[in-house]
This record gives sequence, C-alpha cells and structure tokens, in this order.
Amino acid sequence: MHVSDIKRFLRCPRLYQLSLETKTKFHLYLNISTDINASIANKLNIEKYYVGLTNQESSDTFLVADNYNWIFKARFSYNGLRIRVPLLYIDDDHCDVYSILLSSQALESEAVNMAFMRYVLEGNGLTVDNYYILFLNKDYVYDEKLDDENLWILTDHFIKDGRIMDNIKDSVENISLDLDYILYQIDKSEFELPVRTSKCTGRNRCQFYYDCFPMEKVIEDNSILTLVSSQYKYEMYDDGIRYLKDADFQRVEGSKVQLAQINADQNGGLYVDRQALKHWLEQLEFPISFIDFEWDLYPIPPYQGMKVMDVLVFQYSLHVFDGEKLTHYEFIEEGDSRKELVLSLLENLPEKGSVIAYNATGAEKIRIRELAGYLPQYSEKLLQINERMIDMAIPFISGWVYDVRMQGAFTLKTIENMIDDKHSYDNLRVSDGMQAVEIYREMCQCPDEQQKQLYREQLLQYCGLDSYSLYKIYKWLNKILSDHNDR
Ligand code: SF4
Repeated sequence: MHVSDIKRFLRCPRLYQLSLETKTKFHLYLNISTDINASIANKLNIEKYYVGLTNQESSDTFLVADNYNWIFKARFSYNGLRIRVPLLYIDDDHCDVYSILLSSQALESEAVNMAFMRYVLEGNGLTVDNYYILFLNKDYVYDEKLDDENLWILTDHFIKDGRIMDNIKDSVENISLDLDYILYQIDKSEFELPVRTSKCTGRNRCQFYYDCFPMEKVIEDNSILTLVSSQYKYEMYDDGIRYLKDADFQRVEGSKVQLAQINADQNGGLYVDRQALKHWLEQLEFPISFIDFEWDLYPIPPYQGMKVMDVLVFQYSLHVFDGEKLTHYEFIEEGDSRKELVLSLLENLPEKGSVIAYNATGAEKIRIRELAGYLPQYSEKLLQINERMIDMAIPFISGWVYDVRMQGAFTLKTIENMIDDKHSYDNLRVSDGMQAVEIYREMCQCPDEQQKQLYREQLLQYCGLDSYSLYKIYKWLNKILSDHNDR
C-alpha cells in the first residue's frame, strides 16, 4: 500500500477500492526534460548518490546505504505501507528527509506526506533529524545553461507567497496520524455502496463519479443535473424535479447562465439573447482570423529567457475568412521554435480584422504576451494581435446563447459536437489538449521518422479542427441570430 492509497481511503473508502481495481493512466501535466536528480545533486554539492528502483524493499535500501549516504527515491515499507522518500541523507540509524516539489512554493500540505514518511522510517528503526523541502525559484530565468544553484531553493520552513511560515520539522512532528488504526480500517473495509457527498461532486469531481452514478452519464439534455454551478441541483433531482424547465427558483442561484439554461428548456431547447449576440457579432471585422495554439508546460525552463513553470507554444492553426473564402495556415515544430512560430504567424495572420480564439483571455492572449516577452523585436506586432483578439467563449459563458445539447458544458469540443452531428473530434487519434501534449512529447523523442511524421499529422489534424470549429461556430451563431430575426 502506498501513501496515495491511504489518502484515497481517507477521502472515500469506495474511491480507494475502485482505484485498486482500475489502473488509471497517469497524466503528467508537466514536461520534465531535465535530470532532476543530477540538478539537485549539483545544488547540494552531492558527489556520490544512488537512485532507488521500483519495488525495492527496506532491506535493499539499507544495503545500498552501506555505500551511499545520499539516496534519491529511497524506498521503505512498514506495516504494509510503502513510501518513496524523494531524497534521503542516511548515516547509520539517523537520516534527513528532503521533499522535492516542482512548484514555486513550499506549501504546508507537504507536511502530511512527510508524516507518512516519518511513520515508515521510524518503523524501520531510523531517527529523522531534519526535514527539508527543495522547490523551484520563481525568479530564476534560464540563461544559456541551467544554473542548478539558483534554480532550487532549499528550506527547513514552509514558504507561501514568499512568506516564511512554520518550521517543517515542528509541523511534521505535530501531526498525529493514527496510521495503525487507518491501516487496520483499510484492511477490513468492504466494498461500499456509493453515497453522494461533496467529495463526489466538489470542484475536482471524483474520477469515478460515473462508475458510482452511471445513470447520470446518460442524462437527458435538459436534465436538471446539467444546471451549472448549482448547489441544489441534486436536492431538486431527489425531490422529483427532473428538467431545467421545472427548476425551483427558490433553489436556483440565478446566474445569467443558469437562467439561460432554464429559458432554453422552456423555449424548446435554445435560448438566444438576441441583442447581446447581435452586438457581439457586429463588432467582428473582416478578414476574421480563427486561431488556436497548442503548448507544453515546463516546470524547469529548458530554453533562453524562460522562467520556471513557463509554457512553450509548439503549434498553431489559423483559418482566415475574408467573407467568401476560407484559407488555412498551420505551423508545428520541435524544440525551441518560438522565433520560427512567431515569424510564420506574423506572415500568415492578416494585419487587419478580428482575431478569434476560444478562451482567448485565459490562453491565446497570454501565450502571445509571453512570446512578445521572449522576442522583444516582434513585441509590437504581437501585442497588436492581442488588441484585435476576441474571445469566442463570451457568448456562451455570458449566458447569451445556450442550447440544451451542451448539457452544461462550455468547451469548444462540446459546442462543435452539438452543431455538427458528424462529431469530427471522435474520429481523431488526438481528441483533446492533454492528448495533444502527450503526442507532441512522443513525437519529440521518436527516433523513427515515419512514426514521427504520423504524430505530426495527428497533431495537425487536431489543432486544425480546433480553428475550423471556431469558424463553424461563427457561422452557427450568425445562423441562429438570423433564424431568431425571422421569427
Ligand atoms: S464518486 Fe463519491 S462515492 Fe464514488 S468513489 Fe468517488 S467520492 Fe466515493
């Protein structure tokens, strides 16, 4: 059993049991192209170290400790609980524990992980003298080569938003985990029936939600359960209110989107705030550029001028509509292609007209600002694109347009699937942004040219569909407005 199993059990015993049965694919959201162990060894001036291997037992680690004081990924187990200490300094029966966080904060939440480590290490007869956290320096900027000394910060106190908080050792030793009792509970726990709580439906919805409540996977488009940001939708459902149109207004918070959802159901499926949509569409100027970027996230900056947790845009797709003709441009490249991407974009994107992206404010606009920062020689032209950028999510997230077929979801893919029953995304090998990042990483590491080309084509298809979907949504919005005018 691992610490993650205990955390799942404490959140919900059924979650623990389901996760044992399901080997869920681990999505690594970060691109780590640096040897972290070597980087930290440089930081701490460690000359000789060992890196632990999967499935090693405590006895293997103690054997290694005869020759090495420093062990990365040191594995121990005690009382059925297995741990992996990110970095351990061991000297006879004393040790120091180092947590390594790919984060620019040394948050207090790490104390619980360290308390689990303490339980197992002490169970193995070791005394933990010191606890440290190594985390990333948010002010570090990559300059020609990685400077390990400045990249990492070593602390024996928690640090939040630059403020020094409690001492780590004091915090860890103040945590009382009755692990013997928890492990006993896990051991005797039986498969439980699901009971819906806030742990199921909270901000991070449980990954097994539809396993526990399969009926909701096939809900009707106008189900009350599609009501967004609603505290009471399950209560209404349990009281027999099945559809949006029957919502109890005493239990509806009353946001513009919620009202649009209820209105849509009362109007036969579609709600349009005609004035607002007309105004939004009238601001668009030809030629209209529909643009989508793909990017990867690097906790440790690999290229000149990048900071920790910076992103690198590796692809764009651009559809330009001049009112009659639609033209497509695209770019994808491996490695540090920031300059090439910017040159290609500036060449293909018209100097006039509106530029449309989905969630532009939280994504494409920021990416363009970052590119302008990396490449100041193109900054003026890049920032000028942002001045013309318009967010296509606005009509939907503002509650001006809602179609019950959206089922309370506001992603580009949901809307595309709704307006085109060919469900184009379903036919692609890459069908969401996370998969695109995974394929991009595989492409970069692939030694086989033919396979590399295949990955490239899959990525071009996916990103191309995103920008084409923007064009289709633009046409659809115009159509529903004119249909509305005809009524
Ligand atoms: S959906 Fe709820 S009941 Fe089911 S595993 Fe998750 S937290 Fe537990």
